[in-house]
Amino acid sequence: SDLFISLAWNESREALKELVERTILYFSGLQRSQFPDRKVSLIAGIYFIEGSDEDIDTAIENSNLTRKRMKKQYNGSACEVYTRELRDQREAEKHIVNEFETALENRHFKVFIQPKFMLDSMELSGGEALVRWQKPDGKMVFPDQFIPILEKSGAIVRLDFFVFEEVLRYMRKWAMEGRTLHRISVNFSRRHFEGEGIYKRICEMTDAYQVDHKYIEVEITESMLVSGLDIVHTEMKLLREAGFSVAIDDFGTGYSSLSMLHDMPADIVKMDKSFLDKNDMEEEREFIERIGALIRSVKEEIIFEGVETPQQVEFLVDCGFRYGQGYLYDRPLPIQVFEEKYMK
Ligand code: C2E
Ligand code: CA
Ligand code: CA
Repeated sequence: SDLFISLAWNESREALKELVERTILYFSGLQRSQFPDRKVSLIAGIYFIEGSDEDIDTAIENSNLTRKRMKKQYNGSACEVYTRELRDQREAEKHIVNEFETALENRHFKVFIQPKFMLDSMELSGGEALVRWQKPDGKMVFPDQFIPILEKSGAIVRLDFFVFEEVLRYMRKWAMEGRTLHRISVNFSRRHFEGEGIYKRICEMTDAYQVDHKYIEVEITESMLVSGLDIVHTEMKLLREAGFSVAIDDFGTGYSSLSMLHDMPADIVKMDKSFLDKNDMEEEREFIERIGALIRSVKEEIIFEGVETPQQVEFLVDCGFRYGQGYLYDRPLPIQVFEEKYMK
């Protein structure tokens, strides 16, 4: 469509880069003079083929990689040369994808649970399952280092169900030991909805572990709900009808409108951390109060993520909110630690 590959020869790297830059400038000039009310940008990724043994597919892949990377950074025309760093990053990504299966089999993925609290009484209200990757040398890797890559490769689908099954396993154990159960939420990636969805499998697994559906909460992001994929809506509705809870994660970052909120098949809204990041909370008070009142009128429960200071709690309680999750209360804990500390 709008992707072109060109193979060019020149005496030096500099001369070649200059040629591409000049072409871009020339193109932009023409475009501006002929179609002044339109904006078309040219983005070029350059890869230098040095020897005769380099294969063309890799060359194209590398220049394309450079182009894609730039597309994220600039919004106008640009050109850049492929660098070693990009290659290293790609190698690291490939490494993660390759290591995944073995790591999953060897149970190197660890489930952590971050407790959620009632803001005023400091009483536990539930927890969220968050995954960590424990490398053989003992180092814990945080999800931002591998989730986006596993999302790209699709492996996230298996990881999410692994996390979910770990949660079910513990729930079963806690129930057998006579502990008081709390609702635990599990994150599900958008990738599930390009395939079979999650409803059927969640039901089957939960029933296999004989866990009451009301103790399971499914977190999906606001951006997934506004993506317009019908299957997301259909499945969330089915889950709710089957007694599971559904939460909209990272609310406030996904550009939904209030009318959409009304139709969203969810019980819980998780307000993104960014709501509490503001320097002067007082300035935000009216805004947050009003948003809160609007959400409360259509959804049962609102929880604020990223609660870090007592001032924030005071502010939220003042505004009439009831639930919070954040470092002030506790960090995500290894599931065994969560059990000892909170599962009475
Ligand atoms: P999220 O679902 O928004 O999870 C909340 C993140 O905020 C967690 O980071 C948590 O440790 C962090 N957090 C909690 N309290 C505070 C606080 O007071 N201050 C600050 N600054 N941060 C706080 P974590 O565990 O690193 O997870 C990052 C993201 O990775 C998650 O964001 C979620 O999108 C994704 N993720 C984690 N586990 C899974 C999983 O099993 N499946 C999928 N699909 N995604 C996961
Ligand atoms: Ca979440
Ligand atoms: Ca979140």
